[in-house]
Amino acid sequence: MPTIKDIMNTMEYGPAPEGNAEVKAWLAGLGDGIGHFINGKFTDARAPLIEVLNPATDASLAQVAKGSAEDVEAAVRAARAAYPKWSALPGHARAKYLYAIARHIQKRERFLSVLETMDNGKTIRETRDIDVPLVARHFYHHAGWAEVLDSEFPNHTPVGVCGQVIPWNFPLLMLAWKVAPALAAGNTVVLKPADLTPLSAWAFAQICAEVGLPAGVLNIVNGDGETGAAIAGHPDVDKVAFTGSTEVGRLIRRQIAGSGKKLSLELGGKSPFIVFEDADLDAAVEGVVDAIWFNQGEVCCAGSRILVQEGVAPRFFAKLTARMQVLRTGDPLDKTMDVGAIVSRKQLTRITGLLAQGEAEGATLHRAPGALPKTGNFCAPGFFTGTAPASTVSQVEIFGPVATTLTFRTADEAVTLANDSRYGLAASVWSENINRAIEVAAKVKAGVVWINATNIFDAGAAFGGYRESGFGREGGREGMAEYLSPAWEKGGKARPAPALAIEVSPFTGKSDRADIDVTAKLYIGGKQARADGGQSYTVLGKGGVAIGQAALANRKDVRNAVEAAHKAGGWGGVTAHNRAQVLYFFAENLDQRRAEFEALLIDSTGTSAKAAAEEVELSIRRAFWYAAQADKFDGAVHATKSRHVTLAMNEPFGVMGLVCPDEAPLLSLLSLLLPAIAMGNRAVVVASQSHPLIAARLYQVLETSDMPGGVVNLLTGERDVLARTLAEHDDVAALWYCGSAEGVAMVETASAGNLKPVWTDGGRLRDWRDPAQGQGADYLRRATQVKTIWLPYGE
Ligand code: NAD
Ligand code: MN
Repeated sequence: MPTIKDIMNTMEYGPAPEGNAEVKAWLAGLGDGIGHFINGKFTDARAPLIEVLNPATDASLAQVAKGSAEDVEAAVRAARAAYPKWSALPGHARAKYLYAIARHIQKRERFLSVLETMDNGKTIRETRDIDVPLVARHFYHHAGWAEVLDSEFPNHTPVGVCGQVIPWNFPLLMLAWKVAPALAAGNTVVLKPADLTPLSAWAFAQICAEVGLPAGVLNIVNGDGETGAAIAGHPDVDKVAFTGSTEVGRLIRRQIAGSGKKLSLELGGKSPFIVFEDADLDAAVEGVVDAIWFNQGEVCCAGSRILVQEGVAPRFFAKLTARMQVLRTGDPLDKTMDVGAIVSRKQLTRITGLLAQGEAEGATLHRAPGALPKTGNFCAPGFFTGTAPASTVSQVEIFGPVATTLTFRTADEAVTLANDSRYGLAASVWSENINRAIEVAAKVKAGVVWINATNIFDAGAAFGGYRESGFGREGGREGMAEYLSPAWEKGGKARPAPALAIEVSPFTGKSDRADIDVTAKLYIGGKQARADGGQSYTVLGKGGVAIGQAALANRKDVRNAVEAAHKAGGWGGVTAHNRAQVLYFFAENLDQRRAEFEALLIDSTGTSAKAAAEEVELSIRRAFWYAAQADKFDGAVHATKSRHVTLAMNEPFGVMGLVCPDEAPLLSLLSLLLPAIAMGNRAVVVASQSHPLIAARLYQVLETSDMPGGVVNLLTGERDVLARTLAEHDDVAALWYCGSAEGVAMVETASAGNLKPVWTDGGRLRDWRDPAQGQGADYLRRATQVKTIWLPYGE
């Protein structure tokens, strides 16, 4: 028997396993296995079955059915049937169900923690202290949203039937993140757990049955990727919410393009963990433990790229190595373990393959010492040194307990390295200089930034990515918005068939108006530019009479415009007050040229003098409205559970593509452009294909309004040719498209490359004159992405 002194020296503990008799009894009660939870009924496990394993022991826990298209059909039908009643319930009634679910989860915290640990391999310490308490918190928080929905989200309706697909790394927590807001908002749900970890969702379904959740409100269909694809693709699913790999996120984006379904994606990451030389290094080392060794590194927002300032790098790595020596990897049910089992043999093989590749590419791998258990899928935690920024392990998500490291000299270099990734999920910044930490937080392209902290989550704060980490947010007010639709967006008639094919020909029509600009150009980087292809197209006006020619832009022009917009990055940094001043000045100059625009609208569209005057008047007002909003569309400070000031910052995307419809060509163009630039974006605008001369007039107004070159770029030509190039372009961060239903499908498909968020009108007409449809907070929200910054509060 070791003495206490020995123990203090070695820090060896005896085993302290959490009891699992209760879970074993529950598993035994599953009989042949688990099927699906459809319309309030638990179905039997019918073949084909998938074996559910405990990754720490390789023991079989249960069998789970692989849902077929018929199972998905039954579940969607049940969700649809339950929808009218559930969505019509008063918020208070839904709140009571969510509250009851939260209570029942709390009553079973221990059971759920043990079950989750056995199914996933994560440690009991984490399931008990992190996963399950957060699950309960999520349902309490969202019971609150149900309660206050009407006053907090006026003029919104639920989306309908939501298809939700979740991964295996936080099985019950990801379920909570999906189910709680969906139900609070009045939607009904068909959810598919990961086939590696279906058990806690089954227990959750039992809880729903216990609290008497009406049949069909929540349906669970088990299965694999094929089952997931059947849910996402089901024509009666109105919204798809997915968490998992970027690869599958892309597949889903393409699969449902043009279907009109709403989509949110929480995908992979390669998140930077930035340590400045004035950081509290011991705290930062503990941060690494929570960043990359938490949950075996199977965390989408894991701090997997450690960036250390050169001066402290040797000291930091020495401390990290020392800390790693005492990490314990083993039986996840043992309360003293730091690192549990990797979720599956396949995932372990993937991780070890990447580690070998890292070494083959010249990096040095440092691992925690100590024997690993003989059975099960264990992986010793570690980190690489000597990785190059472009090496595979620096760029690819390992999704295991190993970080890469790089050193940097200056804060600018740290930001450059941090942003050298296709992803943008999270970042962690360590510095005792709060000014610098906040500045770096602002410059890092990530949806979540933790200052002197890492991997903190709360139901009241938004979580979600920039770039290829996906779009949409989960948690808090921002997360609720993903499960609601503004009432105005549901209406609108289908657009008439696309305009006549573009006719590239020398100008043959005869203009009878001297003031028609017959040499309309493009506007790129603050300069008038001829089309790269040297071609123009004939513009037909009132009565089909040719009234001029417009430049016919091609792909090269789009790329030039995007480059010019990219270079105008200073616009996002200009103060909101200054942006407002430019918009006011623009409005003033437009006002000066009322008569000219009215005449051009009449000539172009054949509209009445009265309607033309109204369109110009509304355009001027819209510019005033967005000038006013430039410094009023605020972020928020969220009330989260931990000791943090949790900021929700509305940040611009960067370069946005805006594709305009033909109706109300001046007003619709400005209705899209003004919110985008008011929020600090730069825009590449594809003007109305049929009425392009308006755009040419507009650049003359822009030129006199102190608009910096490159902030607004105006292209004319074939809408869908230009839209496709914008959708495919990696440097276009968000796209708005108004056009045909076919065009909507095309841009949604083409956007899958960099997974930019795409907002379309669904191929339906908008009444741009109606301020409820043509302007408003929805435009501002769609022109920004929320960055959540967690600031420490107190010592
Ligand atoms: P995955 O993306 O394949 O699976 C996630 C979920 O999507 C599962 O429920 C799966 O059954 C389902 N799915 C798979 N193909 C689908 C399809 N075509 N349509 C609809 N649903 C589909 O992830 P994985 O195979 O479990 O893990 C692979 C890699 O993904 C990991 O190594 C990791 O890099 C990444 N990953 C990321 C997260 C995250 O939270 N961001 C979570 C899990 C895995
Ligand atoms: Mn499992």
